[in-house]
Amino acid sequence: MAKRTASDSSAAAESARRLDTLLNNLPGMAYRCCNDRSYTMQFVSAGALALTGYRADELEQSQGVTYGALIHPDDQAKVWEQVQASVAAAQPFNLRYRIRTASGAEKWVEERGCGIFAADGSLAALEGYISDITAAAAEEALLEHERTMQGLLDAILDSVLLIDAEGVILYANATVGQRLGVAAAEMVGCSLYDLLPAEVAARRRAYVEHVRRVRQHFTFLDQRGDHWIEHNYYPICDAQGEVARLAIYGRDVTEKHRAEEALRYNEERYRMLAENASDVIVTVNPRGEVTYVSPSVRQVLGYTEAEMKAISITAICRPESCALAFQTYAEASAHPGSRVRTLELECWHSNGALVTLEVSMKVLCDAAGDPVSVIAIARDITARKNVEALLYASEQQLRALVGNSPDIIARFDRDLRHLFVSRAIEPVTGMPAAAMFGKTDRELGMPAAQVEYWEERLRHVFATGETTDIEFSLPTPAGVEYFTSRLIPEYSAQEEIQTVLGVTRNITARRRAELALQESEKRYRQIIETAQEGIWMIDPAANTTFVNQAMATMLGYAVAEMAGTPLFAFMDEEGRALAHHNLARRQQGISENHEFKFVRKDGQPVWAYLSTNPILDDAGHYQGALAMVTDITERKQAEIELAQRAADLERSNRDLEQFAYVASHDLQEPLRMVASFVQLLAQEYRGQLGENADEYIDYAVEGAKRMRQIIADLLAYSRVSTHGKPFLPVDCNTVLEEVLASLQLVIEENGGQVAYDGLPAVLGDRTQIYQVFQNLIGNAFKYCSAAPPRIAVGAAPAPGGKMWRFWVSDNGIGIEPQYFERIFVIFQRLHGRKEYSGTGVGLAICKKIVERHGGRIWVESTPGEGSTFHFTLPAADETAAEQAEG
Ligand code: ADP
Repeated sequence: MAKRTASDSSAAAESARRLDTLLNNLPGMAYRCCNDRSYTMQFVSAGALALTGYRADELEQSQGVTYGALIHPDDQAKVWEQVQASVAAAQPFNLRYRIRTASGAEKWVEERGCGIFAADGSLAALEGYISDITAAAAEEALLEHERTMQGLLDAILDSVLLIDAEGVILYANATVGQRLGVAAAEMVGCSLYDLLPAEVAARRRAYVEHVRRVRQHFTFLDQRGDHWIEHNYYPICDAQGEVARLAIYGRDVTEKHRAEEALRYNEERYRMLAENASDVIVTVNPRGEVTYVSPSVRQVLGYTEAEMKAISITAICRPESCALAFQTYAEASAHPGSRVRTLELECWHSNGALVTLEVSMKVLCDAAGDPVSVIAIARDITARKNVEALLYASEQQLRALVGNSPDIIARFDRDLRHLFVSRAIEPVTGMPAAAMFGKTDRELGMPAAQVEYWEERLRHVFATGETTDIEFSLPTPAGVEYFTSRLIPEYSAQEEIQTVLGVTRNITARRRAELALQESEKRYRQIIETAQEGIWMIDPAANTTFVNQAMATMLGYAVAEMAGTPLFAFMDEEGRALAHHNLARRQQGISENHEFKFVRKDGQPVWAYLSTNPILDDAGHYQGALAMVTDITERKQAEIELAQRAADLERSNRDLEQFAYVASHDLQEPLRMVASFVQLLAQEYRGQLGENADEYIDYAVEGAKRMRQIIADLLAYSRVSTHGKPFLPVDCNTVLEEVLASLQLVIEENGGQVAYDGLPAVLGDRTQIYQVFQNLIGNAFKYCSAAPPRIAVGAAPAPGGKMWRFWVSDNGIGIEPQYFERIFVIFQRLHGRKEYSGTGVGLAICKKIVERHGGRIWVESTPGEGSTFHFTLPAADETAAEQAEG
């Protein structure tokens, strides 16, 4: 638009009228307006009404509406900027934008205009023409759209086809043309089925018919050579709802199909792996929920897959393990795509056992890098852990053992150098074990003799592989000590002897003990061998395990002959029975001493006194027996002889008594006859046969009398044992009273006195006890001196408390000590008949009676002063005697 100026006015008026007519008949709207945002109209042509729905005057006066307000809000800014730019450049402007009409309809308009400048060059107004281009714009847009679509459809690799219900092609894009080998444009109007192989065509027709029938989208996958095509049939319905046309969309999905196949294959493979793995495979989403867990969880943790999905990880993990797992997860999610992390977790098995899991964990992220899942593979390493722990413990143990073992443990290489030696060697060598590593014994300055022996043995083990035991002595700081070593070959993986292990034990103490034992054994053996007593040991089967020389000699054998021989071989039948009985007691652990009769090799009996002991082991089990044996054969024989002699004596005594009794009894009769006839002779012939004859007759009478007395006494003596009565309690007081009564005459004649106290009761034969008192008291009166007889009778308990001791004492003539024994022997008298009458039987009877009662009789006497006769008798009441004694 060029700058203009006003011209001649008349011509101008005419020109203005013509212009006005022109303007008002134009289809669009001419205008003149201010250059403000409202585009305040100074003039608009009549076309305004048709264009905007507002009359020209409404716009000119800006009554209620300005042109600026009609411009579509989205376009207002654009319009303003373009107008201002053009005006500034003094260029005309050409704009396309939308307006809103009075009815609210939207219209596309084209505006062409320019700035009107005053003479001074300032902008006076804008002038221009605005026409409705709505129809043209719509058509243009459609065309544009079609072009775009066409291009688009041709550009895409997918095939797009539009057919009618009969299969006639209405549209085909370039891809269809390429696929079918026909130009796309040429296809239009052709039947699709004619373009396809017959068999394919038939299928397509069936699909089309199917879509027409069901009026629904239909899809299928079609393999064409190596390619997979996904076909989509979309029904397009007419106003009646019938399928008038079909849009067919075909996409080559070969890659996708392959990828899917591969994915399915992979997934199946991984699933199979997961399902069959002994490791537990688990996926956990970011909320900590288990989304997948492999069935092996059942074996490892005891839960089913379903249970596992319901359990919180915190419920089965130890708290420390939980913390570790969460920390690892946090770190891994902070660095997505980073490496797999491995951690050890301790979890509780459903049975309560603690299971150690080695877990490999990876966080999987989506494209944006956000964690979507955690995949973890858990392996049960409890057993390995346990083995590791055991291994560790056993290594520690081994270390402790080797380190603390009193044995010296050393390892030698083929050059006989110490590869290792335990500290136990230090007291032996006097040098630290560490100083010995890598050196040979020779280099260490060990005594040459020992080194040679030792090295020779070591080489032997290296050469032969034989485990070898050796013994040797060595000077050590503590003196010469003794050792045993075991040398053990150690093999490499190649089965070669690589090293030799030596285990050496100090046996000095044992060796010394052995020597001491040998010494003491020797000593004991000497003692045993030289012992006078026999020593005899047997095993549990009663076989002889040991006898000493004395024992063998005692039985007349050699030691070797007795060894191993059964005990029973050295005795007779009676002895064997007894020995069985004795051994049974030994087996019960009983020790005892007894006499036993063995049989010598020569058949002679050997009497022995045995001190026997069972031999028991620590557990108290019978291991045999030991006897100390003393030969008592001589004593035993003497005893036997003595017993025999006693028996003989008793028998001859009995015979003698019998004889005395029979003799005295049978002598009475002829004696009585002799006495009667001698008395008859004296009466008839006294004084007639001469003086001498009377004297002889008197002698004969006297002799017969004496003889009768002797026989009577002898009979009494023998009757003590042959006519004795059973023992009964006897009250000695009454016995004594009776005795004194019978001696009444004698006592009165002599003017004597008998003193006695209460006497005890005894157990005995009353008649005989009476006789003892009578004889003793009678003698006391008979053997009196010039002084009147003083006699005392008493009793006291004898030591032991079971007997009473009685006494009868007098003040008579007394007895010389040398006769104390003799007076108790029968017919023994100390005086002539002329001095004191008697037969010498009285005391013998007393002795016999007292002894029959188990007592004793003896005398104490001082000649000229008197005698005391003591005798003991069993108490009738033992307790009384005991108390009296106490
Ligand atoms: P007897 O009286 O018949 O001679 P006994 O056997 O009674 O025979 O006595 C033996 C002897 O013991 C007597 O001869 C006498 O010498 C002596 N004797 C016995 N009792 C006493 C006594 N009480 N005092 C002294 N001597 C006695």
